[in-house]
Amino acid sequence: MDLYVYNTLTNSKEKFSPVEEGKIKMYVCGITAYDYSHIGHARVQIVFDAIYRFLKKRLNYKVDYVRNYTDIDDKIINKAKDEGVNFKEVSEKYIKAFDEDMDLLGIEKPTYTPKATEYIDKMIEMIKRLIEKGCAYEVDGDVYFSVESFPEYGKLSKKPLDELRSGARVDVDERKKSPLDFALWKRKRFDYEPSWNSPFGEGRPGWHLECSTMSLNLLGETFDIHGGGMDLIFPHHENEIAQSEAYTGKPFVKYWLHNGFVNINKEKMSKSLGNILTIREIVKKFHPEALKLFVLSSHYRSPIDYDDDKLGEFDKSIKRLYLTLKNWQDITENKDITETLSDEEKLIISDFEKSFDSAMCDDFNTAVAVSKIFDFTKEVNKIIQTKGKNLSDKDIVFIKEAYLSLKDLSNVLGILQEDPVVFFDKALEKHLADLDLSKGDIENLIKERTEARTNKDYAKADEIRSKLYSMGIELEDTKEGTRYRIRI
Ligand SMILES: [Zn+2]
Repeated sequence: MDLYVYNTLTNSKEKFSPVEEGKIKMYVCGITAYDYSHIGHARVQIVFDAIYRFLKKRLNYKVDYVRNYTDIDDKIINKAKDEGVNFKEVSEKYIKAFDEDMDLLGIEKPTYTPKATEYIDKMIEMIKRLIEKGCAYEVDGDVYFSVESFPEYGKLSKKPLDELRSGARVDVDERKKSPLDFALWKRKRFDYEPSWNSPFGEGRPGWHLECSTMSLNLLGETFDIHGGGMDLIFPHHENEIAQSEAYTGKPFVKYWLHNGFVNINKEKMSKSLGNILTIREIVKKFHPEALKLFVLSSHYRSPIDYDDDKLGEFDKSIKRLYLTLKNWQDITENKDITETLSDEEKLIISDFEKSFDSAMCDDFNTAVAVSKIFDFTKEVNKIIQTKGKNLSDKDIVFIKEAYLSLKDLSNVLGILQEDPVVFFDKALEKHLADLDLSKGDIENLIKERTEARTNKDYAKADEIRSKLYSMGIELEDTKEGTRYRIRI
């Protein structure tokens, strides 16, 4: 199946062909480690995690995926100064927090996760060469990249240079040849600033340079996919292109992929509005996979609008999917049957897989892929319902295959990763803790209801069932007794 991706560089959907057959090299800009990561960070990571998994698991590419940590930056230095600690204390704290968030979200670890400070020597080498080539210049210990030396500047953001120049004038440094020139090296100005020795004097690298250096060293001069949020197109990615291509004389990246913004309650998320929503706040309220389902239910390039009610709906959707998984698991459990599927049954599964893959091959359209997952569960559930208790061995084998297929493709999106029994146990635990109740409280009520039923006091039994229902607990009477789970 051919893969098509929307390339910001050409503003068009293109047929994907990697630099090297069978391999994909991909770089996604990581966090600047000075604060807890928010839902905007979550979106980038969820989206590119799904892309990474799809390329590996469904298209069988060998993928080298790099996601960096910016562990030296003005924001980190300022925070360290305010808190009276070393800058490393700040960056290490928030890198650890980010890693915890990624684990909570079940994001696969990229192949490489370099830190900027591990590449200072290589950055200095790059700056030296750019100066030699006449693409960068020193002023009082600072080094700037000369935008005029790179005629293609602006090719990613598609903005005319004049417009960019007038935009940059607000914060103009008289020592720069052009207002658009950006820092490759920043001179140490105050004692509290961490610094490294260099031929240009004591200082630290500029932010844009690190991504160029790390990708060059880990992925080579030209690589396949560079991703990040749309807010990074200008100036960050534009500058990455300029310095990388000026340095190597070769194209830097084949396909530029950018994801859209996350709004909160229809407002732009910003520090000044005070509406920054961190990943850890969200997963306290909702299952992490609900957040993933919310993000992946829109195309990655579209803006998305977060609100708690919406997330609540996605939380229910995830629970429904797990309930389906659990039902399928219950039906097939301990049934060791060998039967071949009918052509019709085979077709239901292969149609599902094909439609999922073709959605993902169309510029990673996870919104359609998610809808295919729901359609498939509905179709199989309908078959189960129609047959009722008369499921044949053949049906059971079909449900087993359907279960595996559903798990497999959900895995590409990073959802339905838990065992359904464990999922419901944890959901119940969280629910009871929120209500300040224990399992014992629920079980006592169930016992009371069973007694009422034995005494044929059905009114009381119903009353207890309704009470439990209003507490968010649903009952199921089976031959083995009454079971209960969280109400969806
Ligand atoms: Zn970057």
